[in-house]
Amino acid sequence: MTSSNTYDAIVMGAGIAGMYQLYTLRQQGFKVKVFETGDGVGGTWHWNNYPGCRFDSESYTYAYSWSEEIIKDWTWTERFAPQPETKRYLNFVADKFDLRKDIQFNARVAKASYDEAATEWEVELDDGSTARAKFLVSATGPLSAFTLPGIPGRDTFAGESCHTARWPLGDSGWKANDFSGLKVGVIGTGATGVQVIQEIAKTAAELTVFQLAPNWCAPLNNGPIDAEETAHNKANAQAIFEQCNATFGGFLHAFDERSALDVSEEEREALFEKLYAEPGFGIWLGNFSDIMTSPEANDIITKFIAKKIRQRVTDPAVAELLIPKDHGFGTRRVPMETKYFECYNQDNVHLIDLNKTPIEEIVPAGIKCSDKQYDVDVLIYATGFDAVTGALRRIDIAGIGGEKLVDKWADGPSTYLGMQTTGFPNLFTLVGPHNGATFCNIPRCIEQNVEWVSDLVTHMRDKDLNEIQPTQKAEDDWTVHVDELAQMTLFPTADSWFMGVNVNDPTKKRMFMLYAGGAPRYKEKCDDVASKDYEGFVLK
Ligand SMILES: Cc1cc2nc3c(=O)[nH]c(=O)nc-3n(C[C@H](O)[C@H](O)[C@H](O)COP(=O)(O)OP(=O)(O)OC[C@H]3O[C@@H](n4cnc5c(N)ncnc54)[C@H](O)[C@@H]3O)c2cc1C
Repeated sequence: MTSSNTYDAIVMGAGIAGMYQLYTLRQQGFKVKVFETGDGVGGTWHWNNYPGCRFDSESYTYAYSWSEEIIKDWTWTERFAPQPETKRYLNFVADKFDLRKDIQFNARVAKASYDEAATEWEVELDDGSTARAKFLVSATGPLSAFTLPGIPGRDTFAGESCHTARWPLGDSGWKANDFSGLKVGVIGTGATGVQVIQEIAKTAAELTVFQLAPNWCAPLNNGPIDAEETAHNKANAQAIFEQCNATFGGFLHAFDERSALDVSEEEREALFEKLYAEPGFGIWLGNFSDIMTSPEANDIITKFIAKKIRQRVTDPAVAELLIPKDHGFGTRRVPMETKYFECYNQDNVHLIDLNKTPIEEIVPAGIKCSDKQYDVDVLIYATGFDAVTGALRRIDIAGIGGEKLVDKWADGPSTYLGMQTTGFPNLFTLVGPHNGATFCNIPRCIEQNVEWVSDLVTHMRDKDLNEIQPTQKAEDDWTVHVDELAQMTLFPTADSWFMGVNVNDPTKKRMFMLYAGGAPRYKEKCDDVASKDYEGFVLK
């Protein structure tokens, strides 16, 4: 490793995963380079500048756990921090540990190919420059490859438009979240759509929401964190992280082990009411454990949430439009909201049901639906991401014999532990498909992913090993196991990004993309594999 652009490891992406991977590998004495498309650290929290963007993880549970110094020196102001605060946090971490010196910004990895003879990866950036490393770690993010709908005439729109993940920054006007006097259109009502709609509704002259699929949203119940709670959170940080690590989703919320069907209606309602009034994902992940596995139990919570929507939306016809009819509560990611449903009681907010009146085209003045044209000044696409595999699909990755990852995964991903796939040695996919971290309060599980990879790479250095990839059997078994776990839940009953479904990309195969066994079980399996000399992998 003599050349200046040859490293022990290359990490693609400088979000929360890539930053920690850089830190740990550097701590182990490796020469590491991170390439990042954007011009700053933070990934999700760097890119998603749209108004209203914030956590649905409790801030102090989303934070890194590995530095007492960070815990001591950083103070979260809100239970669910807004995006600018999280971006500041990740920049604070980058500064504290001088991470930027090993990160090249404005450097998108366009290609990566495996050199079998040298057992090295060569990556090529958009500008044609190349670099090599023994290990290639993708930290490209589960929700970083944004998608736009293929609506005819999209480029003809005469006003200003953007995807929420590419919000143009500005000091005034709509870019700084003042929509006074403007007619705004928002396409999309997923988690991001909900966040941005409830903000724009506060100032826009007219806000027209174009909805294809309503979601089961629940109140975030955000609030400030006072000095007393801050002191408690800092003093008990490791206990809080431990509590998260013991739960299915890595959140503070743990399922109530009782069945929803085994308690009286009064008891059930009391729990639902309590959780609905509490902060965060408790209504989803702190509910009766069988709401995600039993159609009967799910039906009960689904009816409860529908009742809440009907109570909160004044016009019964609008309420019905906002109530999903094709899937149960929690079978898709639950968008967390703050007075979202009440927006639709305002005179300046209009809801268009695209199932009844589909968009035919975008025209210079606005959006033409099958019944009429809606003129808008600003058009916001809250149309989501090519989730989980999207960022990887956008890199031309070639493994042994030149096999392309995109071809190998044409019918859906197959992996071992969601970390590796055969034919692509020494490539690790943090927060990738089939990986426990992707279905988690992500940093809690990112730390597990990153530390597991760092330990493995260190093990290989210590044993003088050059190459690792899974056996075909281990990969096949894991892929079947991932599917079997999913089939034990209700997730496959809904079209969602969990299932690889994206209306903007009908070519994607419908299959469960995540690991539904829960974070503790996933970690246990990864630890077990490591303790058995990396069982299921071939090391050379
Ligand atoms: C709006 C929003 C809110 C969210 N809220 C939560 C939440 O509250 N709790 C939670 O657990 N999760 C949340 N998530 C999920 C979130 O993505 C993760 O929590 C976390 O940010 C993932 O970190 P990461 O480092 O894996 O990926 P990212 O943060 O997505 O970072 C990936 C980085 O890789 C870069 N990259 C991609 N491709 C390339 C390439 N080819 N070359 C170079 N660089 C590349 C990207 O530019 C990006 O900076 C949210 C996601 C979104 C979009």
